[in-house]
Amino acid sequence: MSKKWVYLFEEGKAEMKSLLGGKGANLAEMTNIGLPVPPGLTITTEACNAYYDHGKDFPESLMSQVKAALEQVEAKLGKKFGDPQNPLLVSVRSGAVFSMPGMMDTILNLGLNDETVNGLTEATQNRRFALDCYRRFIQMYSDVVLGASHAEFEHILESYRDKQGVRFDNELSPESLSAMIEDFKVMVKKTTGQLFPQDPMAQLEGAIRAVFSSWNNDRAIIYRQIHKIPDDLGTAVNVQSMVFGNMGNDCGTGVAFTRNPSTGEKTLYGEYLINAQGEDVVAGIRTPLHISLLQEEMPAVFDQFVNICGILEKHYRNMQDIEFTIQGGKLWMLQTRNGKRTAAAAVKIAVDMVEENLINKEEAIQRVEPEHLDQLLHRRIDPTAKLTVIATGLPASPGAASGKIVFDADEAEALGKTGEKIILVRTETTPDDIHGIVQAQGILTSRGGMTSHAAVVARQMGKTCVCGCETLRIDYARQEFIVPTAAGDLKAYKKGDTISIDGSTGRVIEGVVPMLEPELTSEFQTLLSWADEIRTIGVRANADKPQEAAQARAFGATGIGLCRTEHMFMAQERLPIVQEMILSQNLEERQVALAKLLPMQQEDFYGILKAMSGFPVCIRLLDPPLHEFLPNEEDLVVEVTKMRCALEYADDQKEAILSKLEETEALLKKVRTLHEFNPMLGHRGCRLGITYPEIYGMQARAIFQAVAQLVQEGYEVEPEVEIPLVVHINELAFLRQLVVDTAEAVMAETGVKFEYTVGTMIEVPRAALTADQIAKEAQFFSFGTNDLTQTTFGFSRDDAESKFLGYYRDRKILPENPFIVLDREGVGQLMKIAVEKGRATRPELLVGICGEHGGEPSSIEFCHLIGLDFVSCSPYRVPIARLAAAQAAVKNS
Ligand code: PEP
Ligand code: MG
Repeated sequence: MSKKWVYLFEEGKAEMKSLLGGKGANLAEMTNIGLPVPPGLTITTEACNAYYDHGKDFPESLMSQVKAALEQVEAKLGKKFGDPQNPLLVSVRSGAVFSMPGMMDTILNLGLNDETVNGLTEATQNRRFALDCYRRFIQMYSDVVLGASHAEFEHILESYRDKQGVRFDNELSPESLSAMIEDFKVMVKKTTGQLFPQDPMAQLEGAIRAVFSSWNNDRAIIYRQIHKIPDDLGTAVNVQSMVFGNMGNDCGTGVAFTRNPSTGEKTLYGEYLINAQGEDVVAGIRTPLHISLLQEEMPAVFDQFVNICGILEKHYRNMQDIEFTIQGGKLWMLQTRNGKRTAAAAVKIAVDMVEENLINKEEAIQRVEPEHLDQLLHRRIDPTAKLTVIATGLPASPGAASGKIVFDADEAEALGKTGEKIILVRTETTPDDIHGIVQAQGILTSRGGMTSHAAVVARQMGKTCVCGCETLRIDYARQEFIVPTAAGDLKAYKKGDTISIDGSTGRVIEGVVPMLEPELTSEFQTLLSWADEIRTIGVRANADKPQEAAQARAFGATGIGLCRTEHMFMAQERLPIVQEMILSQNLEERQVALAKLLPMQQEDFYGILKAMSGFPVCIRLLDPPLHEFLPNEEDLVVEVTKMRCALEYADDQKEAILSKLEETEALLKKVRTLHEFNPMLGHRGCRLGITYPEIYGMQARAIFQAVAQLVQEGYEVEPEVEIPLVVHINELAFLRQLVVDTAEAVMAETGVKFEYTVGTMIEVPRAALTADQIAKEAQFFSFGTNDLTQTTFGFSRDDAESKFLGYYRDRKILPENPFIVLDREGVGQLMKIAVEKGRATRPELLVGICGEHGGEPSSIEFCHLIGLDFVSCSPYRVPIARLAAAQAAVKNS
């Protein structure tokens, strides 16, 4: 017996999503809970994969199974596929496991031909309608399956509109449509070399093949890359009996969300069009009406719809995104799925649903994508700012963005990649624009509703979007748009001009505008407080300044996991003193410079420890190679050369030039002595502390003097002194003693007793492998996974990303960029060894992570799994880390 490739809707269920695709599984589920669904069948994702395995050929018995299932659909409806008197017409749609809106192909009205079109006329008593369906079908099918050009059809349509003297397609007479269909067929033959197929079964075969093939079209591939959807899942194909929303004024079609997908508010949210077919709503050609108006227009249908929305929400325990059609006053459900939503809506819906007893806290935690919280942490336009609003559209995706106007997706992509801020302006977007949307700061369209392509895609990406801004007249040829001004004339905005858009109100504004940092809603706080109850791993922040520490605290960090002291050295007014310290010829000279740095560092540490009082603050002693604080060698050579030339011609200023020249040459000499072939593996980290103990001594003193001062003032402080880049226990033993001696000296001098700990970063494989020894001298470990990734892979972190990691990712040599997502197998294995060995020596050893991975959800999960005490990340990622840590706890409980 051959494999089952085809399922009738009533044979499936929601759990069969990987086999039937999201749409197929949900159509099955809706059918089985008794909702009105037009009958149909689903071809499995396995059939799609088999198609690719067979070199793009159907697996055995696929079409015979389709025929058998179709006969059952025919029996239910009392119609026959291809019957000239009473034809069954079907839609053919893709349906992947993870929804990929608009990425793959759809065909409607399949089964129409020169004969069945008469049957449709009979059945509907509407010749115009039947002919219109047929011409739409020829257009869609020829475009998707036969590869005819969309523009050619538009051309013919336009000529008939002109001939008949009408503006809209729906005004074309049956005679025009009939003649046009003949022209369409001739054009198809001419441009594709094939006759338009009249046999409905051949049409169906071609459509199924086209849907399978669309799994691998360019836009679907890009979409999968962006959303990390595996390429080998394949798509299912849904063949469903047609219902018509375009048969008259008691018909219509629409899409609706059971809650507001932008804000999460519990109100029905959606749009519909009377006398229209499915694609008209999403395509943004006619501007649809708000769903609430349906209550007046068709009260019974509206009530039934509201009732079904309630049933579906309770059944799926999630907000639903529903497509429906009304044919002759009867409601049909065409699709339901968990609705895509903004982060703000995701948070509100999750919290509300716990309060409505639909889900529990653990489920609520998992309903929000940690990375999406980023959207909530974004900025909005300062409400007190004076704005020149030039137009207003629909507020399609919240946030605010400023940038230069660009009208073309390719150009948006190219410019965006150079770091330019841009707003992509289009009449409407299509899935083909996806690469430009990715690179733009914001999207502005002149047509289309809240469920148009631009709106849906932007919301999902967390990108600001204003759509349906109808006063905008876009002229692609002139690369400008024109808007009417308040004074009653017109104003043009050209490519390259700067505008701002406000995705929360729909405003389009001239120029750059002042923005405000976000405030967090009570639902956001509630959800994160649940995350804090659930997670078992601490979340700290990497911060070097008091205001960063305060921001991190506001976002819920309970400590600093990494304070990089070199950032304090880089401050403009300090650099000369740091340079003086580096250029010192001997210890005495160096002590003089260090004495100047001491009060400055003390003030830094005072500030950050105070801002984090009550929580631990891990302060790392100097880490980077010293030449990072000196001028660039090439610049110095140029300077010296210029001075030498000047000396040749100078008469009066010789002395002054000479002295400056000597100074610069000395600097150049020092820069050359400090030059290293591979500075990241060179004289840095604790190696500096060992060769120049006075530097670490000064830093330790600054920390402890600040601590003593704060303790005297009554603050609770928990300093942790961290030694970077240790490879051998002896390095740590030596430097730990230096820190301890300094602490004791400060206690003796000030008479203040204070607590502190000393520990190390684990950043090289040798340290991880000898963690049992290192733990003898360390009270804590913190994984510096930026360096640990660099030293484990042997990839220079400064070069890898720009030189070859892109190729590695594209060719799937590596599954992920290991500097972003922690490499569990290699780097992770070393971490696991270090945790085990370290705790074997010192069971109470505190272990955390402070590399970039500390704010990345999958890496956080790994840290949870190997039993780290905390993760540390940049302040703005703290909420993301709190949520990701809770998800890791729920997932692995
Ligand atoms: C690390 O290496 O992971 C780390 C946090 O240190 P830095 O990035 O400063 O080298
Ligand atoms: Mg490091």
